[in-house]
Amino acid sequence: MITCPVCLAENDDFATTCIKCKAFLQNRVPNLDLFQTAWKILESPRVTFRQIVLAEHKNFSLLLFSLFGISLSFTAFWYFKLGTRFDTLLDLLPWALLVGLGLGAVTAVVLTLAYHLVARVFGGAAGWRDSMALLAYSLIPIGISLVILLPIELLTFGMYFFTSNPPPYTLKPVSYVLLVGIDALLALWSLVLAIVGTKVGHRLGVFKSVLVVILTVGLIGAGLFFAASQTILWTNA
Ligand SMILES: [Zn+2]
Repeated sequence: MITCPVCLAENDDFATTCIKCKAFLQNRVPNLDLFQTAWKILESPRVTFRQIVLAEHKNFSLLLFSLFGISLSFTAFWYFKLGTRFDTLLDLLPWALLVGLGLGAVTAVVLTLAYHLVARVFGGAAGWRDSMALLAYSLIPIGISLVILLPIELLTFGMYFFTSNPPPYTLKPVSYVLLVGIDALLALWSLVLAIVGTKVGHRLGVFKSVLVVILTVGLIGAGLFFAASQTILWTNA
């Protein structure tokens, strides 16, 4: 809540003018700068999520979902060992990228929709565009893992990263555990950011914010996993 300095009326956290006397409360943020916001969200997430909700244009939301989709795609190629279907890494990469862009577009809509509805059920207050931007910017650590870790994984293991014969773990155990471990930590960081974003943007308590994020991830995670398994079975036949 923001208390109006003129008439002392209580206003919503994100109000720019007082509901009662129209006095000025705070500035709107016109645009979001990608690199500045990405850096600030890691450094001071609460303040930065506020800026994201106050932003008039939720810039780069779709770009961040695209990076997330590509990251999901490479994770599926790794998890389901899809490397066996391609002759070389150069044959695999365009497919993983293409599937990733598709997944980015799908998750931008489906993940946001699930998140937005679950948050609303728990009494969340943010609008649809805010929900999408809160999620998109929560995905920054996963984007970092895609841009920095994936190239290292590809250079270290090549095609073996996506096959099981021999398992990549047995080739370079230390590098493998380290890389996959950091990947998992960055994904966890995104989850924590989504919880903070829900707390700030939807104005929910910690407990409800955790529930909203876990339910959304569980719901969409299970759905995506099922869809991926079915697609792989179907293309095997
Ligand atoms: Zn006022």
